[in-house]
Amino acid sequence: MALVPFDDRDGWIWLDGHFVPWRSANLHVLSHALHYGSAVFEGVRMYEGRIFELEAHTRRLFRSAELLDFGIPFTQSEINRACIEACARNGLSDCYLRPIAWRGAEQLSVSALQTQTRVAIAVWEWPKYFDAERIKQGVRLCWAKYRRPPAEAAPTSAKAAGLYMICTVSKNAAERAGYDDALMLDCTGAIAETTGANIFFVREGALYTPTPDCFLDGITRQTVISIARKAGIRVIETRIDPAELPSFSECFIVGTAAEVTPVGEIDGFRFRPGQLTFDLIERYSAAVRAHVHAVADLVPETA
Ligand code: PMP
Repeated sequence: MALVPFDDRDGWIWLDGHFVPWRSANLHVLSHALHYGSAVFEGVRMYEGRIFELEAHTRRLFRSAELLDFGIPFTQSEINRACIEACARNGLSDCYLRPIAWRGAEQLSVSALQTQTRVAIAVWEWPKYFDAERIKQGVRLCWAKYRRPPAEAAPTSAKAAGLYMICTVSKNAAERAGYDDALMLDCTGAIAETTGANIFFVREGALYTPTPDCFLDGITRQTVISIARKAGIRVIETRIDPAELPSFSECFIVGTAAEVTPVGEIDGFRFRPGQLTFDLIERYSAAVRAHVHAVADLVPETA
């Protein structure tokens, strides 16, 4: 399938408070964010005209910006409303949303006190993160080249562009070697997450997932934990050593883009996607469609 470049599509992008034609949503090459990684973003999905966990994503966007020491010159309600309008303006009801905030071109040095924050929201159709056949069999993971930095070394709970540098290098290497994604360890050698999703394992009917102490506590991760607990499934957040892999019967990864995706292999160690994984796929799919975030639900911050 031919790739349509992201800067050469039809549609509208919300940029700094206004909708602009897709191809006009440009920034200058001397933007601070491009040189110093000063950008934070979100990945959000709309299902059947409703955005899943919109407020939680927007809250995280603002928190991420705060962790990178910059403010966003809009209220969270304004961003929520702009997200909904961006979907409507582009005629989409099942789509992926990408809000992003970054430091502009007013100052180009490590110091960035004089920069202004720019904000954009783009939306596009993006049905599945992984190939459908691969999802059925379970995706294949290899070990990532890089480890997640510890929380003392980086703002690890921010969804910050700069933190994805090691993810892209690791994911590219995985794909070149014929895998779907790479599984990253933390600095102590415990299992952390993949390059864009959190991970769960199954052992004797219970779910095990790494404690998110140096990586994103994903919104999908939190949703899956809550769905599982409501269904009476025990969920244990703990340190997971790679040596424990043989003790698990199933494995799956979760994220806004990946949703709930079975894992079939981690570097030669095989899992057969099983009943618990398929059950959670169904429950997650029902949860994202049951969620209601219509424009009318959003209470304006100023009456
Ligand atoms: N970890 C990483 C590195 C990610 O990019 C994502 C996707 N945002 C996640 C975890 C899962 O987060 P969420 O469920 O909030 O999309």
